[in-house]
Parts: sequence; C-alpha cells; structure tokens
Amino acid sequence: MKNTVLIIGAGAAGLMAAHTLCKAGKAVTVLEARNRTGGRIYTLNDTTFFNQTELGAEFVHGDLPVTLKLLKEAKLPYRSADAEMWRYEKGRFEENSMIIEGWDLLIKKLNELQEDTDIYNFLQMEFPGDKYAELRDSAWKFVSGYDTADPHKASTSALRKEWQHEEENAQHRVNGGYCSMINYLVNECEAKGGEVLLSSVVKEIRWKKGNVKAICEDGATYEAEQILIAMPLGVLQADKEEQGAVTFHPEIPEYGRAIQQMGFGAVIKILLEFTDAFWLDKKTKAMTGKDVEKMGYLFSDEEIPTWWTQLPDQSKVFTGWIGGPAAADKIAMPDEEILEQGLQSLANIFNRDMNELKSKLIACKIMNWTADPFTRGSYAYDTVEAPQARKLLNTPISDTIYFCGEYLYQGVAMGTVEAALTNGEEAAKKMLK
Ligand SMILES: Cc1cc2nc3c(=O)[nH]c(=O)nc-3n(C[C@H](O)[C@H](O)[C@H](O)COP(=O)(O)OP(=O)(O)OC[C@H]3O[C@@H](n4cnc5c(N)ncnc54)[C@H](O)[C@@H]3O)c2cc1C
Repeated sequence: MKNTVLIIGAGAAGLMAAHTLCKAGKAVTVLEARNRTGGRIYTLNDTTFFNQTELGAEFVHGDLPVTLKLLKEAKLPYRSADAEMWRYEKGRFEENSMIIEGWDLLIKKLNELQEDTDIYNFLQMEFPGDKYAELRDSAWKFVSGYDTADPHKASTSALRKEWQHEEENAQHRVNGGYCSMINYLVNECEAKGGEVLLSSVVKEIRWKKGNVKAICEDGATYEAEQILIAMPLGVLQADKEEQGAVTFHPEIPEYGRAIQQMGFGAVIKILLEFTDAFWLDKKTKAMTGKDVEKMGYLFSDEEIPTWWTQLPDQSKVFTGWIGGPAAADKIAMPDEEILEQGLQSLANIFNRDMNELKSKLIACKIMNWTADPFTRGSYAYDTVEAPQARKLLNTPISDTIYFCGEYLYQGVAMGTVEAALTNGEEAAKKMLK
C-alpha cells in the first residue's frame, strides 16, 4: 500500500502540497470544508456580472518565483495590472502622491530600533504630539490598509523589513482568474490518483505517531499515516465551539499557544458593477484637472478608503477595500450597510449624488472575509512573537502532524498566494524526507 496523507484545506497551500505529494507517488486525500476549492482564491465565474473578477486574491505582486513557475507549468498566461495611483484627501485629487512627510525620518528611527515592539507603541514613543499626527496617521493607514494588521500588535521590526524592501513591483493578473491555477492543481492531483473531497468540515483530529484520524462534522472519518493542516490561521485561532475549528486529541498545547501568538488581519472586499465607468467621465476629469483614463488605484480618507478598477482591462467594476481594525469592527455589520458605506464613499470622492450611483449599480458582491467561518480574517502579519511561533509551527510533530499555509512562510512575499504555494511545497517536501 502507498503511504497515505490527509490534507485539511484545499487552498493554494494545501493543493500545492497535494500536487507535490501526488507527483511523488503518495496517496493523498484533501478534505475541504467549503463546496468549492481555492479558499482565499475565489474567482467569480458568472458571465453576466463580474466575469472573472476576484473576490479574494487578485494580484501577483511582482515576479514571484513559485507562482510564475506554476503558471508556466500550467500554461496559464498572465497580464499586467499596472495603472496609475491616485490619492483623494480633503477634497483634492492628486496623482502618484505616495510621498509622506517625515517618512525618511521614520525609516531612520526604525533603523535605530534595538528591541522589537508593536508599531503603535513605537510611533507613540518616537513620534509623539501634534507635530507628527499626520505621520502617525499615514503609518496607521499603511499598516491597517495594506498589511490589514492591527497596529497595536504588528511588529515594528517586521514592518521595517517590509518598508525598506518596498519596491515598485510590476503587478499581474492571471488570465482566466487565479482559480485557473487552483483548477490546474486539483486536476493534476486527481490525475495521479489523489482525491479532493468538498463539503468536508473537519472538526476533530485523533492522533498517535504514524496514525491520524480526521473526523468531520457529518461523522465521516478518514485515516492516514500523516496529516497536513492547511487551514487558515484565523480558523486555527478560533474557539473550539466555533464553526470550522478543529480540536486535537491528544492536545498539543505548545502549538496551540504558538498559533495564538501570530497575527491575522481583517479585510472586507467590495465589488460593484455599474452601467458605465462613471469615474472616468468628464466630471471627474474636471475635478482632477487631469486625464483620468489610467486612474487605477485610489486611496482616500473615506469610510471605505481604498478603491481600484480593472485597468488596464476595460471594465465597469469598481473594487472597494477596507482592512485592519476598521474592517474587524464591521464583523457583524450586514452587507447592505457595508454596501451603503461603499456607495457613500464613492459619492463623496467623485462628488455624485447617492441616488445617481444607486441607479447605475447593476450588481454587487460583498465578501466580509473576517466574518467568513472558514477564513476568519485576511492574511497573516508578524507580531513581536511571530518569528519564534512560526519556527515551532514549521516543525513537524512526530513525523505525523504537519502545518502549512501562507502564515508559515518566511520571506518577502508575506501574506500572499506566493507565500501559500511556497510553504505548501516546502511542507510536502519535508513529509517526503
Ligand atoms: C480579500 C483578500 C485579498 C487578497 N489579495 C491577494 C492578492 O492580491 N495577491 C496575493 O498574492 N494574495 C492575496 N491575498 C492573500 C491570499 O489569498 C492568501 O495568502 C492565500 O490564498 C492563502 O492560501 P492558504 O492555502 O494558506 O489558505 P486558504 O486559501 O484560506 O485555504 C485554507 C482552506 O482551508 C479550508 N478550511 C478551513 N477550515 C476547515 C475545516 N475545519 N475543515 C476542512 N477545511 C477547512 C478553507 O475552506 C480553505 O479552503 C488576499 C487575501 C484576501 C482575503
């Protein structure tokens, strides 16, 4: 009999691991809670609205080796997602104004940092008072908007690394959507005898060295020699009564503590499709005083602060984004209210009447990833304790229990699909040793 492996979670990490293990001749069963694969990769394939628009991961953030290698292997082309960045603040539009006053001083102070602390504390200590209010505010927006992190918990030294290596990377979108890459992994896995079982919510794992049993909500039980936990950090951090949460028997308290020490952000993504791309019309041009045809990304002070279009592709879809504590606060907010806030933000930015926008709106999708029971957040960020915790979680337990996912990746592409694919592949290689 071939050695058997169970993988819990059919996201990018779990499926990359499955692909690697199946290629090596292992008998693999992937158990996935949802009735679809991909996890935080979720391409909408409705041809009437949002054709191939992403509700989850959307961009390949630069020329990332594992992702591009996989896309090449799968013969999946990708295209540029580069477009102009704009800012709308205090009633004014500005193109490409990513310059933040005092940022160089912030980097200098970061370089002098001796002992790690959270970024909120660091800013309070090093940049107190009214003089630096805008700088503190900009840093908060960056940490919560981009990293989707809670500044009260995010590690200053991790952010230092990130901000020092901030490069203007070319952004790409995968043709046919990110889900084509997921479908390729599933097909490859199945072609080699692996199975991917949907609607299988694992709730209990019973284990001893060399033997594991995964028990699902519906009572179905699967047995194997090794198990790879490829679930999101947010679900692993959830209380054991919550939907999606798993318990281990016997317990592994050290690993449980490490999971709690890591940071998991919050995000809401809003997709709005309109009758026309009103944001590119003459009224906007008159407000900005410039050509706005290439306006792709827009950062603002509004309740839903970040917006982007599908440029360079022509599309009538506008995407809204809110991350960090402000998104976490909306965990119980009804989608209708989030939609209202989104439309109000756009009405304010583009100086339109709400009713005009409502009459132009033909479809909307709101994905509150933090409220979703099988994600419970956005993606990982480093807390002060995260490096130690990650080290432990990347260490297998008695060659029987392994963990993988974007949160366990170490490198410059933290929190991304690249992180998930890389860590999934690494975990599989470890299992094969
Ligand atoms: C809104 C949003 C936008 C993003 N944008 C980008 C982007 O543009 N570019 C980028 O590179 N990255 C982006 N990311 C991050 C990227 O999506 C993730 O890092 C990556 O997809 C994570 O893959 P994963 O396999 O680690 O986890 P997941 O994709 O979350 O997979 C875990 C799987 O486990 C399953 N699961 C959970 N609980 C159970 C259970 N009890 N039993 C069985 N299965 C279970 C889940 O259903 C899921 O399918 C974005 C993320 C979000 C949320």
